[in-house]
Amino acid sequence: MLELKNPALYKNQCYINGIWENANNGALINVINPYNNALVGQAPDMTADECSKAIDAAHQAFLEWRNFPATDRAKVLKKWYKLQMQNLDDLAKILTSEQGKPFAEAKGEIRYGASFVEWFAEEAPRVYGDVIPGHGRDKRITVIKQAVGVVGAITPWNFPNAMITRKVAPALAAGCTLVIKPSELTPLSALALAELADQAGFPPGVLNIITTNDAPSIGKELTGNPKVKKLSFTGSTKVGKILLRQSADSIKKVSLELGGNAPFIVFEDADIDAAVEGAMASKFRNAGQTCVCANRVFVQEGVYEEFVSKLAKAITQLKLGDGMIQGTNIGPLIEPKALDFVEKIVEDARTKGAQILSGGKVAAPHQLVYEPTLISHPSTDMMLFREEIFGPVAPVFKFNTEEEVISLANDTQYGLASYFYGRDYARIWRVAEALEYGMVGINTGMISTTLAPFGGIKESGLGREGSKYGIEEFLNIKYMCWGGVE
Ligand code: ADP
Repeated sequence: MLELKNPALYKNQCYINGIWENANNGALINVINPYNNALVGQAPDMTADECSKAIDAAHQAFLEWRNFPATDRAKVLKKWYKLQMQNLDDLAKILTSEQGKPFAEAKGEIRYGASFVEWFAEEAPRVYGDVIPGHGRDKRITVIKQAVGVVGAITPWNFPNAMITRKVAPALAAGCTLVIKPSELTPLSALALAELADQAGFPPGVLNIITTNDAPSIGKELTGNPKVKKLSFTGSTKVGKILLRQSADSIKKVSLELGGNAPFIVFEDADIDAAVEGAMASKFRNAGQTCVCANRVFVQEGVYEEFVSKLAKAITQLKLGDGMIQGTNIGPLIEPKALDFVEKIVEDARTKGAQILSGGKVAAPHQLVYEPTLISHPSTDMMLFREEIFGPVAPVFKFNTEEEVISLANDTQYGLASYFYGRDYARIWRVAEALEYGMVGINTGMISTTLAPFGGIKESGLGREGSKYGIEEFLNIKYMCWGGVE
């Protein structure tokens, strides 16, 4: 049992049409703390029937919510934002307990998540249209933007709070309503957000949460139900492809934020200390379990040894263990399957001749904390070059020329985040333009902010989240042609 200042945030029911509900069949999901395997709580294990009911509620609510003046929608969103900030510690505690990330990082996530709610509350009244010169003397052209309708949102476990608010805030600001399916591994953060939404005063049915152990069935309902007009998904490329295929029959609008294989490039003229700091932030946040984590570090020959030795030193400073203990930097991986995968990747590198300079094993037997691992002299035939590692493992490749590193960096089906460090401004432009990625961090390892369009190209996804572009994903453009204006 979690001890919270505000126990109302600790939920074990779903939120549908403004009512807290159990699963029809009474089934529950056990939510497990990945650090100590303790039972954190339970959430209903719902089925497609309940999802369909939630979609009906969202549809009914949409008919009203879209007609609220944008300033009124903004007021409720702002209240939700304030409640999230007031309950910051509790939300972070729930998050760390079910996800494992260090408490300080969890608090950072709550602030980041809430910042979308604040930002899009302000954007709601700024959904401007256009007036275009007509194509005849008697013609006038106007353009308006309208909410697309009911949105289905499917979110992952690595950011159990922010991946929800990043979708929900722009959708609600635009006038859409939602049915949200959080990850079965981290449903409690989603339910706590729903409690605060209830307190903020969203009308019933505007925001609905369905938790389940049967993601494929709920996914089929959200993609197949004609009342859902838009699907927004964050998760693996594999599942993103399934959902895109399933959405084809009803031609839904789809946003996908999928996997990455981020290059992190350090040129010889870079500030090496800053590059090490950026690599640490980008690689080891959330124990390497983010889709924008540096996956492959490329360092130019002349500074390779210096960079590797400084990175090795920085890694020794990391504290491993229970996220709830102050000072912890690296918590557990999310589940045994994730640990198996990281072990497989490191073993593959080891057998193919890479040097494991530090780490390379679990911190303690029968636990999911994996030691931060530094790998030198890896090669492109290793799994770590192609696969999204999703663990605290940093392979550092050596390169010689700019052309060579661009070609290595782009040699992947992914195109989400990329990073590089250097000072030559002409090269900065060349490299930033040549990287086939949706986002480029230049002399920084931290790129996520509400203010910028987050998203990928290639098999990393469709659409953008955050910034003025984020709300467009939830709007349809309508053009009106006025004739007979004599
Ligand atoms: P990860 O590898 O990060 O766990 P997934 O893509 O498996 O990513 O999971 C992201 C989200 O997608 C979770 O909420 C999960 O329950 C959901 N999910 C997994 N498989 C399906 C599916 N077939 N249809 C719909 N949602 C799914």
